[in-house]
Amino acid sequence: MARPRIVIIGAGFGGLSAAHALSGAAADVTVIDRRNYHLFQPLLYQVATAGLSPAQIASPIRSILRRAANEHVLLGRVTAIDTDRRVVKAEDHEVPYDYLVIATGARHSYFGHDEWESVAPGLKKIDDATHIRRRILMAFELAEQAEDDEARRRYLTFVVIGAGPTGVEMAGAIAELAHVALRHDFRTINPRDARIVLVEAGPRVLPTFPESLSESARRSLERLHVEVRLGARVTQCDEEGIMIGDERLAAATLIWGAGVMASSAAQWLDADKDRAGRVKVGPDLTLSGHPEIFVIGDTACALDGQGQPLPGLAPVAKQQGAYVARVLRARLAGRAMPPPFRYRNYGTLATIGRRAAVADFGWVRLDGTLAWLFWGLVHVFLLIGFRNQVIVMLDWVWSYVTFQSGARLITGPGSH
Ligand SMILES: Cc1cc2nc3c(=O)[nH]c(=O)nc-3n(C[C@H](O)[C@H](O)[C@H](O)COP(=O)(O)OP(=O)(O)OC[C@H]3O[C@@H](n4cnc5c(N)ncnc54)[C@H](O)[C@@H]3O)c2cc1C
Repeated sequence: MARPRIVIIGAGFGGLSAAHALSGAAADVTVIDRRNYHLFQPLLYQVATAGLSPAQIASPIRSILRRAANEHVLLGRVTAIDTDRRVVKAEDHEVPYDYLVIATGARHSYFGHDEWESVAPGLKKIDDATHIRRRILMAFELAEQAEDDEARRRYLTFVVIGAGPTGVEMAGAIAELAHVALRHDFRTINPRDARIVLVEAGPRVLPTFPESLSESARRSLERLHVEVRLGARVTQCDEEGIMIGDERLAAATLIWGAGVMASSAAQWLDADKDRAGRVKVGPDLTLSGHPEIFVIGDTACALDGQGQPLPGLAPVAKQQGAYVARVLRARLAGRAMPPPFRYRNYGTLATIGRRAAVADFGWVRLDGTLAWLFWGLVHVFLLIGFRNQVIVMLDWVWSYVTFQSGARLITGPGSH
């Protein structure tokens, strides 16, 4: 009898976790991704701010799954799913499935202002990170060459829009770059004159954290000379800067960290979705009427025990991937189904800069050096690949001791 075919779309946190847990299962597993590597998104901001190099936070999918003899990897962008014929369309291929796991993540949302993307790039891919790194480093170069104070001030103004974890991390890291790593590198300008503005429409930074930690993060940002503008809704982004209501803030570098939208899975499936475009799934993470289709991670809208949607976080995606693998293994073996999916929240972390981070474990809240050390350990531990773990740790220790950041390269189109 033919072995069941399981297709996993996306080798991010959710898809890889499912693939790992299905290694050795009595099924042929195909993992499809449009990239040939898995990306550790939580450290992407360090690539964007010249702290780490891209290869340190990414690993080839083939090499991660090389020991899983029942799994094979297909490089390709999925564009459609035919649920009647049970095939996934990826580039020129049609890949048939008996069970399908969709884990295609999310992308930026500009709240109906897609034209802002070219001036205010968001951070989701390696290309975004190297593009932002180029813009930040070029701004200092152009400021060094500027002929008048107004232009110099504009080049040295960096605006980060959105004060969620990514916005906070970006703002803190740009401030450290300006005040620490670059401080001796220029002759005409003083990089410490850089103005870093973090703009947030809501009343506090890190809105998903407890208020006391939001407040601690705000104080840490201000200590790093980041200007935090709360209750400030951006109404315009262009080459000259941003508008907050009627106020013009001139800035050469804008970075978007304000919103995300799920991948196109809901369109492929013609499925019910929430406002962020996430596919609504049942307690076992399947699509209604399709027990053979699972949707997980940032592209799924799954509810917790209180009926609230689960957040778009790496641990949610990983736990969902592992759960789906358990369900599939039970089905393949004809065993009883596991109980509905339940997310176990072991805590959330965000870093602001050198010896400044916040950690919420529910039963205890930490900030400052202890939270920062914990943040570093957890992120090194979760990175895929022993080589990357060692190199990132050494790089961090080196930067901490020398106050240098090693990846200050301006690369790519328009780099000079
Ligand atoms: C900058 C940044 C920082 C973050 N920091 C944290 C953090 O500190 N802590 C935390 O818990 N979470 C963090 N997150 C969120 C976390 O990364 C996501 O919740 C997690 O990646 C979701 O996992 P996923 O498997 O759903 O999607 P992803 O990990 O995004 O993976 C999706 C995969 O699908 C592939 N794909 C997409 N579309 C297609 C297609 N059409 N065809 C083929 N392949 C496709 C992609 O190439 C990718 O490999 C951060 C996110 C970002 C962007």
